[in-house]
Amino acid sequence: MNLQVPGGNDISQTKNRSRNVAPYSGLCTRCLDNCVGNCEVFKSSLRGREVIYPEPFGELTAGADKEYPVDYSHLNIMGYALGAEAIDEANPDKAIFPDVDTTTVYGHMHPVRMRMPIFTGALGSTDIARKHWNGLAAGAAVCGISLVVGENVCGIDHGLELDKHGRVVRSPEMERRVKLYKEWKDEYGDIIVQMNVEDTRLGVAEFAVQKLGVETVELKWGQGAKCIGGEIKVRDLDRALELRRRGYIVTPNPEDPAVQAAFKSGAIREFERHSRLGFIDEEGFRRTVEYLRRQIGVKRVSLKTGAYGPRELAMAIKWSSKARVDLLTIDGAGGGTGMSPWRMMQEWGIPTFYLQCMAYNFAKKLATRGEWIPHLAMAGGFSTEDHIFKVLALGAPYFRAVCMGRALMIPGFVGDNIEGVIRGSNGTKWKELPPTVKAFGEKPEQIFATYETLAEKYGKATMDRMPLGAIAMYTYVDKLRTGLTQLMAGARSFRLDTLKRGDIVALTDDAAKVSGIPYIMDYGMEEADKILNGG
Ligand code: SF4
Repeated sequence: MNLQVPGGNDISQTKNRSRNVAPYSGLCTRCLDNCVGNCEVFKSSLRGREVIYPEPFGELTAGADKEYPVDYSHLNIMGYALGAEAIDEANPDKAIFPDVDTTTVYGHMHPVRMRMPIFTGALGSTDIARKHWNGLAAGAAVCGISLVVGENVCGIDHGLELDKHGRVVRSPEMERRVKLYKEWKDEYGDIIVQMNVEDTRLGVAEFAVQKLGVETVELKWGQGAKCIGGEIKVRDLDRALELRRRGYIVTPNPEDPAVQAAFKSGAIREFERHSRLGFIDEEGFRRTVEYLRRQIGVKRVSLKTGAYGPRELAMAIKWSSKARVDLLTIDGAGGGTGMSPWRMMQEWGIPTFYLQCMAYNFAKKLATRGEWIPHLAMAGGFSTEDHIFKVLALGAPYFRAVCMGRALMIPGFVGDNIEGVIRGSNGTKWKELPPTVKAFGEKPEQIFATYETLAEKYGKATMDRMPLGAIAMYTYVDKLRTGLTQLMAGARSFRLDTLKRGDIVALTDDAAKVSGIPYIMDYGMEEADKILNGG
């Protein structure tokens, strides 16, 4: 059985000539020497390394389409006809689904409360995050969820100013990003600034915390979509040279005369800027966490790790436990990205479902020995309310939230495009509202189902300046929240911390084996037998 989708893919804008494709190679069963394309090998013969990356950079997010043997669709959610948790009375007039509490808390000494158990992916130096920031940042704040500023934002900032030691003293782009979230934030949610190797060298944490008032810093070990550092494309030779001077790996080398000539002739159209690989060790990790807390005054330290194997996962959980890390986000394979090599995205790492099952087992092992467990979050391909339910139930009681990368960005795109048409702001991709939007009206108050709810809270004048991307995100999150309250009410859990592993069943033997969740035909049989055998 082949787990890939063989043949061309929208990601590389390739398509096989024949409808018959060899499943493993992805080549047409009959490959003709006069073919005019356009499979991946054909296109790679012309554009080489360009075909590694989803195109066009800065205008998309990408996610793998490999079908792993087991995923969250192999779980089903249970519902019950009796009982109720976390509500005063199991009474049909009191236990109603709109009263389900979807707030969650993460953090050790300085906890953060969120209105929903979700937060954004790390939105870093990719163009797509920068372009849609207004809607994404204001949206996360209005929803009362946390927002993660990803790596390299200062490092690629045109307006970056450094002191004589090479440390950030000014970064207009980072300032803009933090300010926008804070402007719309109330008592819920938090802005988290991520740090990789280059950010650490530039003193991004010091700048973000001491100058911009950021309270949470995230150390980055990796991500789900790739096992190399963050990367972006650069379409300007001077910019490529500047980033190389700032210490980034830029390929092909823009200082090479042959590369410069190829760029000028158009044979090379872009450069790649890569971050360096990090190298972790326990003592360095402990010292960094301590430095951030004691020297810089960071209130919360989080860690983001990628789809690595059991060794790195165990390190992440154990070291975070010892260092009292506030939040550990574990990002599985199959997740999304603003830019990662396509084949790497498809083929590397431990898929999200398997990784969460491993993480649960590791956390349980430590907890059984009385060790402290950091709050855990899972990332890697989530977009629906049932995903949230399943992650929190499967990982109960250790998992507090779900990191949603690509899905939470879509309302930002949609809202920005509508805003471009209606309010005439820059950057819209649409000339007019498409029928999919126009079907609901031509004004924000007609298009967005939650517009009036927000207007009641914020007032008309504020609504006129609220980015439509933010309203779109609020509307999407409202759908997630409503769906989650329905699923939870069905499972008779009226607060997130009452979700339990017993609220899900495995539909396949494989899913049961990987997760330890009972197979559907074994689930609850003892209780059923007792009833059947009773008088
Ligand atoms: S070159 Fe043409 S015929 Fe050969 S595998 Fe590619 S698309 Fe098919």
